[in-house]
Amino acid sequence: MTMRYELLVPKILEGAAVRFPKKEIVTRVGEGTHRYTYADMFARTTRLGNALRELGVGVGDRVGTFAWNNYRHLEAYFAPSIIGAAVHTINIRLAQDDMAYIINHAGDKALLIDPDLAPLIEAIADRLPNVQHYVIMGEPDEVTTTLPGAVSYETLLAAASPEYQPQYVDEYDTMGLCYTSATTGMPKAVAYSHRAVYLHSMAAAMTDMFELSERDKVMAVVPMFHANCWGLPFVTTLVGAGQVFPGVRPDPRIICELIEQEGVTLSGGVPTIWIGVLDYLNRSGVEYDLSSLKRLVSGGSAVPLAILQAYRDRLGVEIIHAYGMTEAAPLISVNRRRSWLDSMSPQEQLELCAKQGTVAPGVETKLVDENGEEAEWDGQQRGELWFRGPWIAGEYVDDERSDETFVDGWYHTGDIASIDPDGYIQIVDRVKDMVKSGGEWISSVDLESAIMAHPEVLEAAVIAVPHPQWQERPLACVVQRSESTAQLTKETILEFIEPNFARWWLPDDVVFIDEIPKTSVGKFDKKVLRERFESHV
Ligand code: ADP
Repeated sequence: MTMRYELLVPKILEGAAVRFPKKEIVTRVGEGTHRYTYADMFARTTRLGNALRELGVGVGDRVGTFAWNNYRHLEAYFAPSIIGAAVHTINIRLAQDDMAYIINHAGDKALLIDPDLAPLIEAIADRLPNVQHYVIMGEPDEVTTTLPGAVSYETLLAAASPEYQPQYVDEYDTMGLCYTSATTGMPKAVAYSHRAVYLHSMAAAMTDMFELSERDKVMAVVPMFHANCWGLPFVTTLVGAGQVFPGVRPDPRIICELIEQEGVTLSGGVPTIWIGVLDYLNRSGVEYDLSSLKRLVSGGSAVPLAILQAYRDRLGVEIIHAYGMTEAAPLISVNRRRSWLDSMSPQEQLELCAKQGTVAPGVETKLVDENGEEAEWDGQQRGELWFRGPWIAGEYVDDERSDETFVDGWYHTGDIASIDPDGYIQIVDRVKDMVKSGGEWISSVDLESAIMAHPEVLEAAVIAVPHPQWQERPLACVVQRSESTAQLTKETILEFIEPNFARWWLPDDVVFIDEIPKTSVGKFDKKVLRERFESHV
């Protein structure tokens, strides 16, 4: 019999300190960089764990973080787990009510806050009865807040014991907490066990997933407060790859500069990030050497074919499409080409890349149709995706809504998809975003992707608007490129996409707007658009 060995997140940290002490972690600070090694990171994370312990944080407690992607946030990802507590990453773009709700629901005992973000917490501080400590993630002179008893992170670290004294817990105990937005009601909490994050990291590193090694330099553009930062801080530390953090308010210029200067080999973000980067490159005319990039991961919503093509043909960069959600820590699938598909033409390869990929080893899948029957994996039949596996949530934490989503050991995603015979998932739409016209479903994602292939279009979102006869009809909301001269019209858009769709799929109208509203994590905010165009006939 093999020995019993708990899969604990502190073990990931310990491994990095032993195996990769010299490897570098870089954070953009202003126009310069902060650089240190895994050895430094281990020493400081140890101190942070001890400092939290001295503040009275212990086994089962939660520590909230409210910060950009930077090295202190990385330390905060690991330190609570050393003392048996959990890190709760708080989305800095939430509405005040949601923010107060999740901090109270999580029961955060201490909050670690980036200096420039402190005013956002100040505004709700009188609604946070459980928070006992506010720690400002900076030097003493950066503590300019009115938050009661606020202390500087660096002061705490300097005073803390340097001795590594881990408090190991059970591998099924909670090490992290993320909230996911809900269609109705308050955000829902997902708890990650040590074991889930450990196994997720092992899977994410695999060749047919993110293909990560010590030789890589990984830059997460996806915020550390969104969906566990796709697990990147953990998997990168596990394999000892270099890490690059873009710091405060990363924009396309900063992203391109960091890729070039630091030789980033893998970066990840939602499609709007990569659409923005491409637009910046086109508009500014600045040439960057992005040749170090071996993989650019796009996930969180469907990546339009035109974007995949532009990256491949214009920049020589392959975008890897990934799919997942907060409930899955978050990786479900990554799109890597199977060996038996190598003979595909370049166009077929591109179309394959637009799919959401094949599920990670360890994740079990069901595709279930409207009648509750399993749909065939023939690339045609559609159904809702259900998953189960070692890093998939089994419930929402203290939430009555759990029973709707987690049924008989399966997580019901609310995502409608087909799966082809090779196992590639293609998301048709989120249930709540599909357009139901005369009893038939229209995929908003397919229409958007087709419209965004138009060279004059920057972004497009398709929503359902109420219709007296057909119940719902699609409306396309389109943003024209700022530099384009000719004015786009409804007719040009419809003519452009007409060859790809049945007539009744075509949007009834096309409205031109300045910007597609985005959610707190940078996805198209269709809820806002639906409200805005509710009475558009
Ligand atoms: P939120 O619900 O707040 O957006 P998540 O980031 O957890 O929070 O969202 C997960 C959902 O995002 C998935 O259920 C799916 O609908 C969508 N999604 C994620 N990745 C992709 C992708 N590559 N293509 C299409 N949809 C995606």
